[in-house]
Amino acid sequence: MYVVIKDLSFKYKNAKEYQIKNFGLEIEKGEIVALLGPSGSGKSTILRLISGLEVPNGGEILVNNNILYNKDKFIEPEKRGIGMVFQDYALFPHMTVEKNVLFGVGNVDKNEKQRILDEVLELVDMKEYKKRYPHELSGGQQQRIAIARALAPKPSLLLLDEPFSNLDADLRKKIRNEIKDILKKTHSTSIFVTHDIEDAKDVADRIINL
Ligand code: ADP
Ligand code: ADP
Repeated sequence: MYVVIKDLSFKYKNAKEYQIKNFGLEIEKGEIVALLGPSGSGKSTILRLISGLEVPNGGEILVNNNILYNKDKFIEPEKRGIGMVFQDYALFPHMTVEKNVLFGVGNVDKNEKQRILDEVLELVDMKEYKKRYPHELSGGQQQRIAIARALAPKPSLLLLDEPFSNLDADLRKKIRNEIKDILKKTHSTSIFVTHDIEDAKDVADRIINL
């Protein structure tokens, strides 16, 4: 299995009860899994644990045979090679599309950067927008750029937290189909969090109910 999560448990410091208890999940390479559940069911917390933004109280997390967390080991978030897309896009407002997309791409030469930029912008059909600023783009376009930015460093795993929740119903349907195409085209192993069963059905290969 490409992603293995075993017996994961977690409690926020100020909380009385555990938010995550003995959570387990296995994902094959290239699979898109949806975590479906109402607000407060722990979806965001699970993504924060996988990405390393929170430290679990117990369990194991492995991606591609690399231990990211167990009782003896904690890999820092920036070293995990995990891509993230959030509900509020979180593009840097003072940077152009080009700068936003290349932000997480490490030390590679100029030509390679251009190649990556063209490749991911082509993928999200936004090649003409390199020099634009986020405020010049629509909500759907901003979300496509957020996806391009997450894919640019070729993440081992892509985490998407309610990526459509700021979009209206029509756009939501359109964008979720686009995202599914992009994830499949890039063979991205992905965990996609949503409270919306239609989102989950349209995008995921498999749905996990929390
Ligand atoms: P969502 O359900 O969209 O994931 P929430 O509204 O649950 O987001 O949480 C928004 C922010 O508030 C998050 O950063 C989360 O960590 C924080 N938060 C949520 N619940 C609590 C809580 N009980 N105590 C402290 N912070 C919380
Ligand atoms: P979801 O993403 O499914 O809405 P969350 O993972 O945001 O759920 O929250 C799971 C539980 O953890 C909720 O009960 C929430 O109130 C609590 N929680 C979230 N963030 C914090 C925090 N920073 N501190 C304390 N409790 C939190």
